[in-house]
Amino acid sequence: MLNIVLFGPPGAGKGTQSQRLVDKYGLIHLSTGDVFRKNIKGETELGVLAKSYMDKGQLVPDDVTIDLLKSEVLKYDNPKGFIFDGFPRTNAQAQALDDFLAEINSSIVQMISLDVEEGELKLRLANRAKESGRVDDANPEVIQKRINVYRAETAPVKDFYAEQNKWMMVDGVGSIEDITERLFKAIDSLK
Ligand code: ADP
Repeated sequence: MLNIVLFGPPGAGKGTQSQRLVDKYGLIHLSTGDVFRKNIKGETELGVLAKSYMDKGQLVPDDVTIDLLKSEVLKYDNPKGFIFDGFPRTNAQAQALDDFLAEINSSIVQMISLDVEEGELKLRLANRAKESGRVDDANPEVIQKRINVYRAETAPVKDFYAEQNKWMMVDGVGSIEDITERLFKAIDSLK
């Protein structure tokens, strides 16, 4: 399986680019943020719980998120591979993902980081708030909190993959098409 972790701070463009990678490589896009938002819309128990964290810019607890991720992966028969977007966000999640994939005789092939500086991220999130109606994008304090959580808890996950020689960085600034081309090149180089 071609399992890729698409990594980067909030607003880096993971969702946008994931869609393009799905189209090109026939992978399954698995975004924990999207799954949480679906649950919030459907007013499920998980949604109520997730919302209480997301509204504050905090991470949903690892045990909840890990269980969710596993059940999402197991929904698919014979997948070509997954693009994990927004997961893993902590070292505990990364370890759990490795263990779980090993159980199903699979593994992560590569983590690809989209590199975007903070000023640009804030602009993008403010714009997205106008279009998507995401409450966590509308409030500058919540945005700042998410960026802080990213720096403290999520950015270090990069080292987890770098230590396994499974990490690369792609410039995440430029036109959407240009960034897609860079990602295609990066992924083609893995094969
Ligand atoms: P973004 O990458 O723009 O921050 P996401 O849609 O990936 O947005 O995530 C939105 C929110 O959902 C996060 O701020 C967090 O509260 C929650 N969330 C998503 N994925 C995870 C995860 N792997 N672990 C914990 N919380 C998560």
